[in-house]
Amino acid sequence: MTIPETDTVPVWPEGVLARYLTAGGATVDITRGSGVDFTATCLGCGDAQECDHVSATCIGGPATALKANQGAAREWAQAHAERCRALPRP
Ligand SMILES: [Zn+2]
Repeated sequence: MTIPETDTVPVWPEGVLARYLTAGGATVDITRGSGVDFTATCLGCGDAQECDHVSATCIGGPATALKANQGAAREWAQAHAERCRALPRP
């Protein structure tokens, strides 16, 4: 069975890898930057977190850096989504 596209399921913007629903009904979107960095952006209040703390030249290499930065972005998004009550802009 295929799920039909409806108005109630908006298409995710290009580049969005993960999306967290906030307490206020907005979303926090995770996007990847040019390298191993990720950004989590709240579409409710506009707060954003760049996760680029681990460099691609770290001891574990780019794969480790990618995983670490993505994990950090997810953690921030999850934590922010739980407490943000800003409504999305109409
Ligand atoms: Zn927010």
